[in-house]
Amino acid sequence: MNIDEMLRSLTDKLAGIVPEGELRYKAELAVEINQLKKARNAVILGHNYMEPALFHSIPDFTGDSLDLSRKAAQTDKDLIVFCGVKFMAETAKLLSPEKTVLLPAKEAGCSLAASITADDVRALKQRFPGVPVVTYVNTYADVKAETDICCTSSNAAAVVASLNTDTVIFLPDEYLARNVARETGKHIIFPTLMPESPFSTELDYQMIGWHGRCEVHEKFTVEDINLIREQFPDVFVLAHPECSPEVVAASDFSGGTNAMIRAVQESSAPHYLLLTECAMGDNIISANPEKDILRLCMVRCPHMNLITLEDTLASLRYNQYVIDVPEEIRSRAAIAVERMIAIG
Ligand code: SF4
Repeated sequence: MNIDEMLRSLTDKLAGIVPEGELRYKAELAVEINQLKKARNAVILGHNYMEPALFHSIPDFTGDSLDLSRKAAQTDKDLIVFCGVKFMAETAKLLSPEKTVLLPAKEAGCSLAASITADDVRALKQRFPGVPVVTYVNTYADVKAETDICCTSSNAAAVVASLNTDTVIFLPDEYLARNVARETGKHIIFPTLMPESPFSTELDYQMIGWHGRCEVHEKFTVEDINLIREQFPDVFVLAHPECSPEVVAASDFSGGTNAMIRAVQESSAPHYLLLTECAMGDNIISANPEKDILRLCMVRCPHMNLITLEDTLASLRYNQYVIDVPEEIRSRAAIAVERMIAIG
């Protein structure tokens, strides 16, 4: 695709969402990236939260983090460029140990992933011996390596149910844990709030949580939903499960990024309200131009926002930033991910 064709393609999808001058500049960058991608036998993955011009121009695959890592593992490419955040690029490396994985901005982190360390998990396992550990995929590889099984926001309840046990350690998202507890009927105990006591292990608990939160999804409130419902009484509200249980309860639908996209495509409400990351809202709007989609766009993930077309070009040019996971950690973390994949 040359620059004019790329500009036409971006304009078709993003006119009215991204200013015209910006589209021209980004079309030029995108063409250069696509040429280099081919020359380097690379595959580019674009997470749903990437800014719209990047999302619609350079990725070979778009979607949620696990989906993307699985697709990249199935290609014959030598190089994976992950337009997402660090824990996602690590997940790609877990499933493709023989490939080089690049993350365009090395500081692209995540508040959830940063909320817990491998030492924290080891301490919990010592405190609650024999209790299985379920870890959300939004964690770093060394945390996954301490885990029995991973989960996504879509399959968390199924993964917890599959363990067939009363007690589960569920890490690190407090809100997702509470939403899963509601769905599965399990109670949660947050060990960081419990006083140290010789009797603590005798309490009645079924799910042990952690106080990690997504700094984007925690911002939505029930009041936000009520205000929109006052103006649009027939609005269909979709909330990500990283939102608080109160927000999820006040919504009409809750699901991960791919599930939200499907729910918008498969329903026919007069208005939709998306309670999720701002760029993902733009991407859903551009894919469904005939639908009236509202967003509360006060929240752009600061980590996802670090991934730009300029950095992706530099990543391919200078082979930066290479994601390395020591084999001893990679192999254990991969087992936790594969166990989850087996559940679906
Ligand atoms: S949106 Fe939330 S969970 Fe996703 S990368 Fe940003 S901070 Fe992490």
